[in-house]
Amino acid sequence: MLTVKDLVKYFPVTGGVFKRKVADVHAVDGVSFSVARGETLGLVGESGCGKTTLGRTLAALYEATSGSVRFDGTDLTFLNEKELKPFRRRIQMVFQDPFESLNSRHSVGSIIEEPLVIHRIGDGPSRRKRVAELLDMVGLPRSAESRFPHEFSGGQRQRIGIARAIALSPECLICDEPVSALDVSIQSQIINLLLDLQEEMGLTTLFIAHDLAVVRLISDHVAVMYLGKIVEQTDADTIYKNPLHPYTQALISAIPIPVPGAVSNRIILEGDVPSPIHPPSGCRFHTRCSHVMDICRTTEPEFLDQGDGHLVACHLYENPKSVPPAARG
Ligand code: SF4
Repeated sequence: MLTVKDLVKYFPVTGGVFKRKVADVHAVDGVSFSVARGETLGLVGESGCGKTTLGRTLAALYEATSGSVRFDGTDLTFLNEKELKPFRRRIQMVFQDPFESLNSRHSVGSIIEEPLVIHRIGDGPSRRKRVAELLDMVGLPRSAESRFPHEFSGGQRQRIGIARAIALSPECLICDEPVSALDVSIQSQIINLLLDLQEEMGLTTLFIAHDLAVVRLISDHVAVMYLGKIVEQTDADTIYKNPLHPYTQALISAIPIPVPGAVSNRIILEGDVPSPIHPPSGCRFHTRCSHVMDICRTTEPEFLDQGDGHLVACHLYENPKSVPPAARG
């Protein structure tokens, strides 16, 4: 349904009196993956790794620098706005911050109705009927239609954002950290709502988050991103039971264990994420990896299948005999 190949998105950095381009931010740097119809791919990584830029490029909110995004067989990458319009109906986004993404001066009814108006679907009465249906679908009372976003809690606002995103009955939903601004108790309600909608509507979903525990609840497959690149990808069970990449192992080790007295073997990553303007040579993770070897500093590892579609980009796995036991997790 969604196939991404060698996708690159750079943002120019300008400087000097004439604002000439002096460098690029390498936000997304050669990303490839695919998501089957009706499946959910969880995309995880620390803040600033390029997840949001990737999501926005897939939704055609940013123009790709190079590479391709194929949706249901059509390459969207360099379509003009008119050619993109039918696909904008089919691919919708749920944004991170329900406080920021809703226009506070519009009523909830007009916020949810807006995509129908933009795409000229139905007339006044049929749109109002659709808004009522959507409020039912996301578990909000019909009386919400005439109220304003500031009258709702964070979780309720995210329900409004989801109602707007599904108003056009999309086939693909890109959820950009949809629960990270919410209290933990509300997060599970929104995840359950998304799971119900996925089943009801057969949605293909890209679920972006920095919290692996949240991603586990909703994803069929998981891709781990570090500094503009995917470093590991496999099915959701395998990534938790047998993480291979040292970065994934560190992320998994940071998930709290919900058992009183349980001892966590947390791997602490030293240093900060390097600048995406000057990413490290070779393996981008080498400045923080405890298994670093000479080759890691100079040569970028290939993204190789370790069996059953478990893909990892790490020199430790190019010659499996050299893998130290600690790196196997
Ligand atoms: Fe660590 Fe080298 Fe693997 Fe990169 S390629 S994750 S630096 S061992």
